[in-house]
Amino acid sequence: MSFSNLGLMPELLRAVEEKGYTAPTPIQAGTIPAILSGRDVLAGAQTGTGKTAAFVLPILQHLMQGTGSAPRALVLTPTRELAAQIADNAAGYGRYLKMRTAVVFGGVGINPQIDQLRRGCDLLIATPGRLLDLSEQGALDLSRIQYFVLDEADRMLDMGFIHAIRRVLKLLPPQRQNLMFSATYSDDIRALAQRFLRDPVNVEVASRNSTAERVTQSLYRVPKDSKRHLLAHLIQDGNWQQVLVFTRTKHGANRLAKQLGDAGIAAAAIHGNKSQAARVRALTDFKNLRVTALVATEVAARGLDIKELPHVVNYELPNVPEDYVHRIGRTARAGATGSAVSLVSTDEEPLLRDIERLLKRAITVAPVPQFPILAAAAESPQTEQREAARDSSRTHERAGNGGRGGRRGPRRAQHGAGHGAGGHHGGHSGSQRPSGPPRGESRAGGAEGGQRRAGQSPGAPRGAGEPQRRDGRSEQRRGGEGRGADANRGSWGWRRA
Ligand code: AMP
Repeated sequence: MSFSNLGLMPELLRAVEEKGYTAPTPIQAGTIPAILSGRDVLAGAQTGTGKTAAFVLPILQHLMQGTGSAPRALVLTPTRELAAQIADNAAGYGRYLKMRTAVVFGGVGINPQIDQLRRGCDLLIATPGRLLDLSEQGALDLSRIQYFVLDEADRMLDMGFIHAIRRVLKLLPPQRQNLMFSATYSDDIRALAQRFLRDPVNVEVASRNSTAERVTQSLYRVPKDSKRHLLAHLIQDGNWQQVLVFTRTKHGANRLAKQLGDAGIAAAAIHGNKSQAARVRALTDFKNLRVTALVATEVAARGLDIKELPHVVNYELPNVPEDYVHRIGRTARAGATGSAVSLVSTDEEPLLRDIERLLKRAITVAPVPQFPILAAAAESPQTEQREAARDSSRTHERAGNGGRGGRRGPRRAQHGAGHGAGGHHGGHSGSQRPSGPPRGESRAGGAEGGQRRAGQSPGAPRGAGEPQRRDGRSEQRRGGEGRGADANRGSWGWRRA
């Protein structure tokens, strides 16, 4: 199969060729002819499959017929990163066409966006909240929309956008072509599809865990407090140049980025509390290899398009097993292969079991290598829990010995002996004990100079209340920063594609 068999116009074929694509991906081969023929499409495809080009290319071609200042195509997407990414792709694919693309999302002044829309655009890419704001203010005319794409529909529902989607649908003219892309098909997704798709062509390129099959996955069993030391070791010892690290909370992302920085690894955090400028800078530095480790929360990482990302690390396992598949889908994109490493502490065993159930297989347990314990900036688990619950955007932390900010640079206290070498985790009972000390957990001896062997318990179990927040509620919560993530978000821009 080649792109020239799909019915695309020469200007698009040229742009695709210049991108270096030699053949359409399965989702592109499946959807592009259907979209060009005017059919509604329900596509099961996750990020990394080439889904953006699958809808952008045929829509650009459709848009060449007709003009007008109001947008004629609308792509609704859950996050500003994804919106910006789609706009970038549209600019690239449409470089030989006269096409105006605008992208709008929340968190910045609305007036420049109003001005921009007044000047006119053909393709509008938007997150739901800002789109509705603009429409309510009379700044956006959606009555000319002929092509509507709901991208990452499952994410939209996860993030609580269902009411916003319904409101947007009511603003669109009844005569239009609809495309819906979703990585997973829950009952809610099917219900949503039935609501607005008409006799759709179904394209499901692969099962939802197909990406997972291309990724080399492994896990290390490691006490929570040793994770950062092991991660620093893996990055340095493996000479990793580019690694995306997932934490569960924004504060955790800030803290880990700082700790890695203290260990001599160029690191940056990216999450919803960061300004758009800071996020763009972090991402650019990461893409240009000026930053080795990009530490991200789930939501912030969505829509990041980093080609051939070689390493993804789950510093903490996600609460929702599907998120694991999404996370590791950041590597092994568009046919490449990559490695995904998870650092799993005892309290995360139930999450691991859920993930393995979804994957229908066990993740390989790697022997924990010897790694140095860095002496600076150890914290009590209670402090950690409190701060995670607060999830503030502070970047500084209290050093374990009362100092501020810890030491600069790694102090190699002692090389630790790995534990669990070759061990299989299957025998672990893994039962969740919300208020008791997790079995096998140990505190880092960092504040006292890190004089213990990595991976080894010092004997005393962690204090009661470890897995609990200060308010007694479980720290495990779904989509920590997801709900309404469109609010308070970044900048906007437009491009002539
Ligand atoms: P997406 O699933 O849209 O996020 O795309 C994932 C990555 O695949 C992006 O970096 C695209 O540039 C790339 N890509 C899209 N289509 C192709 C193709 N036909 N061949 C190679 N790479 C592609």
